[in-house]
Amino acid sequence: MEKNILNNSIDRSWIEKWKNPLTISGPCSAESEQQVIETAKRLDPTYVQVFRAGIWKPRTKPNNFEGVGKEGLQWLKNVKRNTGFMVATEIANSEHVELALSFDIDILWIGARSTSSPFIVQEIADSLEGEKDPIILVKNPIHPDIELWIGALERLFRKGVRKLGVIHRGFYTYKSAKYRNQPNWNILSKFRRFFPRIPVICDPSHICGNKERILDISKIAYHFQYDGLMIESHCDPERAWSDSQQQITPEELLVLLKKLMNCSSIKKNQNQIQKNLDSLRIFIDELDENLIALLSERMKISKQLGSLKKESDIAILQPNRWCDLLKKSINLGTSLGLSKELLEGVFKLLHKESINIQNRIN
Ligand code: PEP
Ligand code: MN
Repeated sequence: MEKNILNNSIDRSWIEKWKNPLTISGPCSAESEQQVIETAKRLDPTYVQVFRAGIWKPRTKPNNFEGVGKEGLQWLKNVKRNTGFMVATEIANSEHVELALSFDIDILWIGARSTSSPFIVQEIADSLEGEKDPIILVKNPIHPDIELWIGALERLFRKGVRKLGVIHRGFYTYKSAKYRNQPNWNILSKFRRFFPRIPVICDPSHICGNKERILDISKIAYHFQYDGLMIESHCDPERAWSDSQQQITPEELLVLLKKLMNCSSIKKNQNQIQKNLDSLRIFIDELDENLIALLSERMKISKQLGSLKKESDIAILQPNRWCDLLKKSINLGTSLGLSKELLEGVFKLLHKESINIQNRIN
């Protein structure tokens, strides 16, 4: 499908009715009516426009809390009636869609695991055909496969959904000590060049996996002029039944949003060159974080190699292997436009460190 057709037909009216970037907040999971209502009442409607809560929870492994199900939809409906917030929940099949719409849930989002499956997305898209103007947000797939993500949008678009948006919640990569899901601002910038009209929302909670860095990630989202944030909040985060480490109280959210507004008003006067410099530095930092995670994986394997060599009484330095490795790396790297000097320098350092690690095994 022509990217232009999709982009030009997007209906942004639902998000443009708010002047400031949108904030969606609420618990990871609805646990009880009391928890849902209390969290909603403590959220400040000047800063938060949409209340979220997961009713059906996609868990990585079985035997975890998988959501309260249908019962929670009535709680969300009550939040809407009592507070005036719009309400949002995650859907993952046609039954969820039908039930959520029957309880007047305003915004449905497709979770990262579901976006990764074309069958699931197609089932959801089919069940939305003919529905009156649903608002659907599509989280990025688990892996940074931008075409799969666009494919999900196209499936929904073909069934008549025009109020579409996406959520950047980070991607699975090599275990990075820093994030639960590595953000990829660069991919998102490319996405926005293709689809400037599709609203982009950032989910710092699922990117960070903890409370500490939510503000930093939100600042970056504001820097890139995202259309909104989705931040998990809970009336008693420590006792949350899912994602307890990353949820904050509604009061902590308010402090965070005020800080964010201050920073963004200071930055408003920055000139375009400084903004572009900042963007490129964010991309560089992101790549460096990935490089560091990869280096750590590489050195862990060196350690395993060292133990195996020691057990089997094999010499640590294997000159033939090292010559082959250097040659292969230089060929690959130069084919990607890197200089021989850089590749030689980097691989000599890596090899030296790997030998040192293996020598230290006793
Ligand atoms: C969630 O928003 O609670 C959730 C399950 O998110 P994700 O699909 O990003 O893992
Ligand atoms: Mn969650």
